[in-house]
Amino acid sequence: MSAELWLNVRSELQGRIGQDSYRNWIEPLEFQGIDGQSARFQAPSRFFANWVEKSYGQEIRTLFWEQGGKIMRLDFEVNEQGFKLEEHKDADDSRIKTRENLPELPGSALDPRFRFDKFVVGKSNNLAYNAAKRVAEEDTVSFNPLFLYSGVGLGKTHLMHAIAWEIIDRNPDKRVLFLSAEQFMYRFIQALRSKSTYGFKEVFRSVDVLLVDDVQFIAGKESTQDEFFYTFNALIEQNKQIIISADRAPGDLDGIENRILSRLQSGLMVDIHPTDYELRLGILQSKWEIQSANHPNLVMEDGVLEFLARRISSNVRVLEGALTRLVAFADLSAREISLELVHETLSDILRVSRKKVTIDYIIKKTAEFYNLRISDITGSRRTQAIARPRQIGMYLSKTLTSKSLPEIGRNFGGRDHTTVIHAVKKIEELLKHDPQTAEEIETLRRQIEA
Ligand code: ADP
Ligand code: MG
Repeated sequence: MSAELWLNVRSELQGRIGQDSYRNWIEPLEFQGIDGQSARFQAPSRFFANWVEKSYGQEIRTLFWEQGGKIMRLDFEVNEQGFKLEEHKDADDSRIKTRENLPELPGSALDPRFRFDKFVVGKSNNLAYNAAKRVAEEDTVSFNPLFLYSGVGLGKTHLMHAIAWEIIDRNPDKRVLFLSAEQFMYRFIQALRSKSTYGFKEVFRSVDVLLVDDVQFIAGKESTQDEFFYTFNALIEQNKQIIISADRAPGDLDGIENRILSRLQSGLMVDIHPTDYELRLGILQSKWEIQSANHPNLVMEDGVLEFLARRISSNVRVLEGALTRLVAFADLSAREISLELVHETLSDILRVSRKKVTIDYIIKKTAEFYNLRISDITGSRRTQAIARPRQIGMYLSKTLTSKSLPEIGRNFGGRDHTTVIHAVKKIEELLKHDPQTAEEIETLRRQIEA
């Protein structure tokens, strides 16, 4: 029972703090049970426990409460012996072979989905993709380091894993180490505390390829930066390939020493631009192919992927999450994936990514569309040629804005909210039974949202 509670808290936490932090800090915790108002855990070290308490304690307690567990305190027991560098390894890592006498690599597991063949290439990312491929396929080191940067969710981590996979596939003896800058820092501090910095240096200098993700994390962390600098130089001198990612260009990283910045800039820097519509659609099509192979009885209406690609422009992670959620809902409710289901299940995502549309703007566009004057729409004439567009305008105001029915009524020439309800119902009826009008409304909607 309490174990189940923790499982729920954990999975909720994963969504909130992100995959990397989850792997680094939550997975290694062993849940021991609940004692009165405290949840007990075993942690790999005192430092680790303090870090978890400081960074995630509040969140963990809140989540326990949300799940009905009245937890006031987190108690950590420390098991220093149990902490080994390879603690995060899982099955996929067995491919990263270790040679005799060489220390184990403390990297994170590579995600089997993050390979080159699963990366959809478009205008905004093809430079980054080509550079990554080149680094992975060539035996000689042509640019060092490769520095990838972009906003969140645009594929940096995916490309780095893909590089690592490709190198290991080509040569299983290569020592390839992928980790986040946060993990790098943690390992380093851990080594300082256990007075084993020699071992730490030895590990990091024994690799053939080093990939450090999200290097912006070490901003402001001086001793970690020093150690990073030494590691970096030692590897470059041995002509070992380094690949770095960050959320911005080196020149824009504040709080990182100049000598490191100039090192970071000494290789090839490529950025991934925000996605465009074609790329988003391509990504959705490829993800849908995978999903529908796993759920062969799911049916998707035409136009759904196009709608998502048009409406969700924030980042690929959100796009992917939207499709996953949609598939889960369709599967659970045994329904077809239609635009209707999209609106039902993704209203939160769609709301954020929608541009702000006002009622007045809808009235203006509706009038234009039907060759009417604005005063026709807001006026009192009831001929079909005017009343129908007026109803469509009300319907679109209801579905495209968050305004209340009385507010919509007021904007449409001071009409009562019951008139608006009637209009919305009427149009919903038409949408179901009159494909031509449905298409007309869809066209108008697109013009309003364009
Ligand atoms: P970043 O590290 O830049 O924040 P990620 O590499 O974690 O972004 O990408 C977020 C999600 O989007 C991942 O699931 C990744 O597979 C997916 N993704 C991003 N770009 C692409 C792409 N071009 N093709 C396929 N999937 C992509
Ligand atoms: Mg990333």
